[in-house]
Amino acid sequence: MSTEYLINLAYIAAAILFIFGLKQLGSPATARRGNLLSAVGMALAVFVTLFSSQILSYSTIIICVLIGGGIGAYAAEKVEMTAMPEMVAIFNGTGGMASLLVGWVALFGAQVDGFTAFTIALSVIIGGVTFTGSLIAYAKLSERMDGKPIVFDAQRMVNAGIIAAIVILAYLFIQNPSSSSSALWLLVVLAFVFGVMAVIPIGGADMPVVISLLNSYSGLAACAAGFAIDNNLLIVAGSLVGSAGIILTNIMCKAMNRSLANVLFSGFGAVKHSTKQTEGEVKPISVEDAYLILEAASNVMFVPGYGMAVAQAQHAVRELAENLEDNGAEVSFAIHPVAGRMPGHMNVLLAEANVPYDQLIEMDDANPRMDLVDVAIVIGANDVVNPAANEDESSPIYGMPVIEVPRARTVFVLKRGMAAGFSGVDNPLFFGENTRMLFGDAKESITGLVAEFKD
Ligand code: NDP
Repeated sequence: MSTEYLINLAYIAAAILFIFGLKQLGSPATARRGNLLSAVGMALAVFVTLFSSQILSYSTIIICVLIGGGIGAYAAEKVEMTAMPEMVAIFNGTGGMASLLVGWVALFGAQVDGFTAFTIALSVIIGGVTFTGSLIAYAKLSERMDGKPIVFDAQRMVNAGIIAAIVILAYLFIQNPSSSSSALWLLVVLAFVFGVMAVIPIGGADMPVVISLLNSYSGLAACAAGFAIDNNLLIVAGSLVGSAGIILTNIMCKAMNRSLANVLFSGFGAVKHSTKQTEGEVKPISVEDAYLILEAASNVMFVPGYGMAVAQAQHAVRELAENLEDNGAEVSFAIHPVAGRMPGHMNVLLAEANVPYDQLIEMDDANPRMDLVDVAIVIGANDVVNPAANEDESSPIYGMPVIEVPRARTVFVLKRGMAAGFSGVDNPLFFGENTRMLFGDAKESITGLVAEFKD
């Protein structure tokens, strides 16, 4: 059996591990194992690739692995949980760049046919767009750049011109593929420019969707690069990333009741405001009074949002949930699909704090139970519990499915002030008849409640 044959067998094993790993990522209970399986698959793939006869220099590979691995380990250790989406943006961008370079490298020392030239052009275009698009998404999310959509007259004309130029240059390159082709250089430059142009008109609030989409693009770029260098595993892994990314993008759009076209082209967040006047008054509550109501409650639902991540309140929340259960209350956690800043954000935090999985319920299961809830505790969530989404047709978020906390007997909202959520839209929940505002950092407020239970 030849080495190349064995390598391909190992690639099949790795692909199977990826697929089972992905499947297990579908539930919090098996997600860790799924991650491990996929990592083992990737380690196997990298290991057997090192036996390939096409490897030119092991010392260069080892140096690059040490540098790249060192930066990766340092960044993963340092990154705050709230900055995870930015980190993913950078990962996608570097993935796109890697595919661009791999595609390019396929031109060196080899006579390429028309199909290979086509796949090289694809990996360069998609990889380049992914690279600069991800950098802009990173800059917007980390507030290094203003999150407002950048729109100008004739923007669509300019973009259409760039796309036309890319198609022409790709055609010219495919006719005469070579590593020194000036059409290829121009193609790289225009792909970079288009990545920037595609992301600047999208508002900061939509960046998580964009990141998921760019993740999908990075997979497609890798897939194209896989064809270019004739590597089966890169084709499989690229397709998996490409399809997983687009499925996730679709889930996020649905959870916000918006189409992908609306996210990409509408400039959401630029100007719109509700025309409806908010009625009612804000009723603050102290930790001591909130405790008295909680002590008498027999059904409590937590609704976490981005503020829980900012406050890192998840461990205190688990402690409070345990105290409530010891006091005889039924406790659940209602998770909105886009709570926080990335899909699964709340699940990850609550899993880290060892909240039992069976207490986590999805929005569609939470809403029918709401009438039975004595106290809904909203912890740093805002947009995902905004009743304007159901009631106010003039609201920019009208139509977005939300967790219907006003139907609970009492609602506690834990936040620091009256600031709007990520979408910048006002929230009439804070003025609701049965709403009590527990102002302050969520972790401090929850820790205060836990202390009351202990006294
Ligand atoms: P929001 O961003 O709407 O609101 C978060 C709230 O947390 C703020 O109003 C803030 O109020 C409060 N907060 C911040 N820090 C603290 C703290 N230390 N203690 C207590 N409260 C705090 O969050 P949601 O989770 O409700 O909504 C997520 C938003 O992100 C939605 O608009 C969603 O569409 C968007 N989004 C999410 C995606 C995802 O994948 N999760 C994807 C795409 C978009 P204050 O400053 O007054 O304390």
